[in-house]
Amino acid sequence: MIKYCDLKKINSAYGDELREAMLRVAESGWYILGNECRTFENDFAAYCGCRHCIGTGNGLDALTIILLAYRELGIMDEGDEVIVPANTYIATILAIIQAGMRPVFCEPSIETCNIDPCRIEELVTERTRAIMPVHLYGLAADMDRINAIAGKHSLKVIEDAAQAHGALYNNKCTGSLGDAAGFSFYPGKNLGALGDGGAITTDDDVLAGAARAIANYGSHKKYVNLYKGMNSRLDELQAAMLSAKLPYLDKDNGRRRAIARQYINRIRNPHITLPAADKEGNHVYHIFAVLTPWREQLQEHLRKEGIETLIHYPIPPHRQEALREYSGLQLPITEQIHREELSLPCNPAMSDEEVTRVIDAVNSFSPAQPLL
Ligand SMILES: *Cc1c(COP(=O)(O)O)cnc(C)c1O
Repeated sequence: MIKYCDLKKINSAYGDELREAMLRVAESGWYILGNECRTFENDFAAYCGCRHCIGTGNGLDALTIILLAYRELGIMDEGDEVIVPANTYIATILAIIQAGMRPVFCEPSIETCNIDPCRIEELVTERTRAIMPVHLYGLAADMDRINAIAGKHSLKVIEDAAQAHGALYNNKCTGSLGDAAGFSFYPGKNLGALGDGGAITTDDDVLAGAARAIANYGSHKKYVNLYKGMNSRLDELQAAMLSAKLPYLDKDNGRRRAIARQYINRIRNPHITLPAADKEGNHVYHIFAVLTPWREQLQEHLRKEGIETLIHYPIPPHRQEALREYSGLQLPITEQIHREELSLPCNPAMSDEEVTRVIDAVNSFSPAQPLL
């Protein structure tokens, strides 16, 4: 059985470093907001090419805290609108709602599955304050066009970079492509902790200060509370795990790209649409997403061939019970992606032999009956 994502195998590649770091933290007697967190924040800021990195408890909080910080700074207000791709993971939408603001759903491009820049401007109103592009599946969104629209309408650009650690755009790293960015270090992400974790990156000194305080009870100084903050911090143990793995991120992303290149060059099946090939490091293939109208049949075929696949995501946010107030929206491209998407295994723990098995199995698929 080829597992979709074998976290045990992925992390065993760093077993010695992780064990050593775990012991170091366990024996240090310091578990929250210490040297491990600070070291990782500095290293990750440098990696992304940003002035600031602020560790958070998870990716959802990272995005929420950015918006809350803009509110505290008087740049955004309750009920303001944030334009967001409709086909994202629900966390992006929830961050906007949790910050007391309103998500405005934008259709993606079917070629990239990222927010379609052609369709952003028609959604801008007097209440729009930000665009929140998602580098979905690991592919950097079309930031030049997004930033140009934002500049024209004085909007902030907040990247949801949870799936795209290390992806490049014009040779700059995600996390440094807008005004601020939220990352997740959920274990399955390209840079994954051994538990929950997240981070905010930004070049904005004022925003960074407010965000850091909000993540720590609204306090920038012990027992002095400037804001009604929350408790969302990257703990020392997870920071140490991430510091152990960060030096290998580029190599791991390179392996993901090499697997994706094999898939793109060798999968020949007229019933399946493959994702865009990587250009200049712009795709880190967190998810290798194919589209096919025969998604359920293909998934079953691959299961019988011993290959586990996943769907990202089976139900679009506006069709979720939790977001029923948006259920009236007509978003045909979003719905097509959610109907047709299937994720093939693509991660650094896979062997060449496993990659070939996936390719052969996909090539041997043909639908039982043509679509009506
Ligand atoms: C994983 C993810 C998040 C949320 O990250 P958590 O750490 O799980 O809170 C947000 N947005 C996207 C696109 C994600 O994939």
